[in-house]
Amino acid sequence: MERPRPPVVDPGPERPPAPPPSDAVVLFDGKDLAQWQSQDGSPARWVVRDGYLEVAAGTGSIMTKRAFGDVQLHIEWATPTPPKGEGQERGNSGVFLMGLYEIQVLDSYHNDTYADGQAAAAYGQTPPLVNASRPPGRWQTYDVVFHRPRFGPDGSVRDSARLTLFHNGVLVQDNTAITGRTVHGRRAQYEPHPDRLPLMLQDHGNPVRYRDIWLRELPDRPPEPGGS
Ligand code: MG
Repeated sequence: MERPRPPVVDPGPERPPAPPPSDAVVLFDGKDLAQWQSQDGSPARWVVRDGYLEVAAGTGSIMTKRAFGDVQLHIEWATPTPPKGEGQERGNSGVFLMGLYEIQVLDSYHNDTYADGQAAAAYGQTPPLVNASRPPGRWQTYDVVFHRPRFGPDGSVRDSARLTLFHNGVLVQDNTAITGRTVHGRRAQYEPHPDRLPLMLQDHGNPVRYRDIWLRELPDRPPEPGGS
């Protein structure tokens, strides 16, 4: 809680979604949950309504049926209005890359919480460079470039995962090194895992909405010299 809060930047008004690029894998086009399932493999039970997807509290997080590694991801979200709750209890959800590495989704508009727990944080690790949040109820965008971690044959970490993130068009994570699997209140660590894993959206008990979700699969990067 003592960590300084990132400065606030007004990103301007919400904008209508733009059509995805021609090589995008469309994960949600406003119509159905065909690309998604619950974590136990049963059908996803979140609500689809008026072109958006809404967390049905208590039904669990949902994950894509397909698995991905390095990606460019676009996703839009909106937190409930009027806002309810304080801190981590206000509009909490999350975008989990590979189901393991969380970009926090939270109503961070005039809602104080710890810096690495606010919207656009690499949760529990790295706060956003600035707080570019829109008010609750407004659509917000995340544009992500994610490179997966790489493990050596012995399971050691050869390259950390890397995150670049624009929140409402504003750079908030600049090639940030992810320090391990997202955890709460302790130091993250890596555990070796496959090169491709599903994308996950978090049920944190708040009716957060999503729309216009697509990604582009990126070619594998060459290893970093000497690792990192
Ligand atoms: Mg969360």
